[in-house]
Amino acid sequence: MPVTLFDRDGHRCLMFTDLGHVPGTDGHADEAVQSNQFLIVDGDTGAIIDPGGNLAFSELYLGMTRHFPPHRLTAILASHADPDIIASLDRWMTSTQAKVYVSQVWERFIPHFCKPGKTVGRIVGIPDPGTRIRIGRGELIALPAHFLHAEGNFQFYDATSQILFSGDLGVSLVGGQRAKQPVEDLAALLPSMERFHRRYMVSNKVLRLWADMVDPLPIRMIVPQHGAPLAGRAVKDFISWTRDLRCGIDLMEKRNYALPA
Ligand code: FE
Repeated sequence: MPVTLFDRDGHRCLMFTDLGHVPGTDGHADEAVQSNQFLIVDGDTGAIIDPGGNLAFSELYLGMTRHFPPHRLTAILASHADPDIIASLDRWMTSTQAKVYVSQVWERFIPHFCKPGKTVGRIVGIPDPGTRIRIGRGELIALPAHFLHAEGNFQFYDATSQILFSGDLGVSLVGGQRAKQPVEDLAALLPSMERFHRRYMVSNKVLRLWADMVDPLPIRMIVPQHGAPLAGRAVKDFISWTRDLRCGIDLMEKRNYALPA
């Protein structure tokens, strides 16, 4: 069952949190990292954000048909081009008429997820400054989030629900059940966030640039692609937390670039 993040006047945001489990063999409960996929519906138009890989496809497609007819899907939005974001592209290209929006940095790379010719005329490259994508009466704003973590990276701000779909920023490594519960106390979630952000985010410089961009926006929730949504005071607390976080290349030293023993 998806989580309803927003539902008002024909505008709905649904989050799928627990699709495509494969039991792990090496001490992990799951073979693959828990991932969220999102369906945005406005009237009779819809978009999906970060639909995921082949693990999620069948269940997401089926789950979606209960809420929205897939042939009406107009946009597939990809924050970046990682496998857990968009590796199922081939099957979405077959089963819908939607266009796929992804950074111009990746638009000529994602056809590799598909059989030859499948993506012709259907990829919209988002330029580095971002863009606005109309979905029904509303719009999703592709906000620049480059290097958080991918080189060409966007977050999607839904102006109607005031939800920021933040891709890999704001991630917490928790299970599918915990991912369903919006969290207002950031401190409770930080132990499952910190290591990820230190390694996957590129630098404090870009975190601060991002924080300056989103601070003035009215944000009701920050919803990442793995883990729990941040709501209430956790939104501002998270933005301030990123301002002081040293990560990525900030932490790299000579010893990190040595020949292995
Ligand atoms: Fe990624």
